[in-house]
Amino acid sequence: MKNKGLLAVISGPAGTGKGTVVKELQKDENIRVSVSATTRAPRTGEENGVAYHFLTKEEFLRMIDQDGFLEYAEYVGNFYGSPKKQALDWMKQGKDVILEIEVQGCEQVKNSYPECISIFIMPPSMQVLEQRLRDRGTETEEVIIQRLMRAKEEIPLSKQYDYVVVNDRLEDCVSEIKAIFEKERLK
Ligand code: 5GP
Repeated sequence: MKNKGLLAVISGPAGTGKGTVVKELQKDENIRVSVSATTRAPRTGEENGVAYHFLTKEEFLRMIDQDGFLEYAEYVGNFYGSPKKQALDWMKQGKDVILEIEVQGCEQVKNSYPECISIFIMPPSMQVLEQRLRDRGTETEEVIIQRLMRAKEEIPLSKQYDYVVVNDRLEDCVSEIKAIFEKERLK
């Protein structure tokens, strides 16, 4: 009988569709997705405690001092972090935990939890990525450009991940990741 769940990091440039992929994976009752804390402002429709725990910078810094994060990073001017307690509790209960985080966070998690698995979701091309970011319609032009520049920096770092999965068709990408989980659970 399994007594400890997997810890899986999923990264990929903004606009690569990883949020949708993670939502699909979450339908598996054995999988839990960590709700991150962030200092960024909520987007329309984002509920506190569901999309993110929205914190002030002071609250975020206090949580760092209290060793409350598995990892945290600054991304395009805001802090993001994965609360430690909830993720570790779920793993103890035998649930597989997904952290949907950017690349600096992944490095930190690998240092503290070398047994974690890391998956990088790759867009089919930069053109598709840009189109997806624009179609989302949630960001200003300035933020879109910052995120595209960040994507160009992040993509080469995919080499550091255990698995790279291209998100061309959502169903294929989700099945590929499910297959990775199945394989890792058997190890
Ligand atoms: P967004 O502002 O689009 O929701 O997220 C921006 C980036 O921050 C995404 O790449 C997302 O994966 C990443 N992110 C979200 N939560 C965390 C977190 O807890 N830690 C880290 N390191 N990155 C995060």
